[in-house]
Amino acid sequence: KLDIAAKLARKLGADVREEIVHAVDGVDLRVRKGEVVGLVGESGCGKSTLGRIVAGILPQSDGQVFWKGQDVAGLHGDAERTAKLRRQMIFQDPYASLNPRMKVADIVGEAPQVHGLIKRGGFDEYVDEQMRRAGLDPAFKRRYPHQFSGGQRQRIGIARALAVQPEFIVCDEAVAALDVSIQAQILNLFMRLRRELDLTYLFISHDLGVVEHLSDRVVIMYLGRVVEEAPTERVFSAANHPYTRSLLDSVPRIGNRKRAFATVKGEIPSPLNPPSGCHFHPRCPLAFDRCKVEVPKLKTVGALHRSACHLNDAG
Ligand code: SF4
Repeated sequence: KLDIAAKLARKLGADVREEIVHAVDGVDLRVRKGEVVGLVGESGCGKSTLGRIVAGILPQSDGQVFWKGQDVAGLHGDAERTAKLRRQMIFQDPYASLNPRMKVADIVGEAPQVHGLIKRGGFDEYVDEQMRRAGLDPAFKRRYPHQFSGGQRQRIGIARALAVQPEFIVCDEAVAALDVSIQAQILNLFMRLRRELDLTYLFISHDLGVVEHLSDRVVIMYLGRVVEEAPTERVFSAANHPYTRSLLDSVPRIGNRKRAFATVKGEIPSPLNPPSGCHFHPRCPLAFDRCKVEVPKLKTVGALHRSACHLNDAG
């Protein structure tokens, strides 16, 4: 819907149209306790919007979000507060998500203190523990975010999330802005925290290498819809959907220096005016007449494996 910036632009005389984008359309996503689910797709496919909705920081205009079997819209008081705290989000740009005027101790300790998770007089001890868990030296807790490197700032974001005792964390491109060597450190930290704290992750990424390494299960989105979901090993060895196969073919491989990179044909269509039928049909090398008029449904194509492609009906 029209946001504040667009309203301001209109006030200043710009020609701004009000349109509705279905960033997430008919998605049914389940994440089981203890799982790491990788959510994959190109920019603009709706994966970040979906992540924000399930983390509880963006309201959905339609549909329901369930937490431990309960519709969060029906929760009130302590139950609502607890459901919110237990779902946390870690963002791509740690610097933009940290208040530059706050010291690290306050960034990490503010929310648990407000919510009564810190016992009287225990603020410093509590903050130190979260910083240590995230691999930060508590001696630096009086410093500001700009005094840390990119990797350390991401660790501050992780410490802040851990401080409210989450059970489920949405990581939205959480290592995309970091150098490769630092990425590996942060990914290892996520895995260690999963073991130590029994965490569940929704790991949003466009990097298939990272997703393959981390995830138990992978969900592929295209223009707001889920087109395929399967256990990770199956996605990478026996992908069913033409879009998933195109994505996998476009990953650079060591040893293929002379081979031209395969690409997904054409541009991503505008979500303001998505193609009819299967949204992928203008770019799909296997499209046929039915694809232009009928939306394919997600159907079982193997053990825990679902795909939305009319070719599965055609055998
Ligand atoms: Fe391609 Fe048709 Fe399958 Fe869509 S439904 S992925 S256009 S073959």
